Amino acid sequence: MAYDSTNIFAKILRDELPSQRVYEDDAVIAFMDVMPQGTGHVLVVPRTPSRNLLDADQATLGPLFAAVQKVANAVKKAFNADGVTVIQFNEPASGQTVYHLHVHVIPRFDGVPLKPHSGQMEKPEVLAVNAEKIRAALHQQ
Ligand code: 5GP
Repeated sequence: MAYDSTNIFAKILRDELPSQRVYEDDAVIAFMDVMPQGTGHVLVVPRTPSRNLLDADQATLGPLFAAVQKVANAVKKAFNADGVTVIQFNEPASGQTVYHLHVHVIPRFDGVPLKPHSGQMEKPEVLAVNAEKIRAALHQQ
């Protein structure tokens, strides 16, 4: 399947849709997932378009995972988490729902299970507070 530039994350990258951004550099943007699977769930999205990992240019992957590491450390610090889950889905059979490559970064707490994927919408004001905590942790790195 070809990349379709009308997907939600392409629109967020073009600022046609709002997002609670926590980090950006030349290669990626990172913003709060609106249906978080846990407190502080962030999506890291490369600027270079691809449908998912399977069709991505290899040059995209290094900077993407450098940013994933940066955000993972920031969310762990921001929420005093016990661990961080990193997930990436490819094609519908795997659970992918938005067809622009992205990586999920989710703080984890001992004994707290993940909420369902693409489950309930979080209140924008809660996402805003969590985003600010992550930005603050990133500034301290
Ligand atoms: P996928 O299943 O493609 O790996 O994950 C897509 C993710 O995007 C889901 O976790 C879902 O909650 C999130 N999502 C869907 N629509 C939007 C949106 O409009 N804005 C943001 N920030 N996240 C979204």
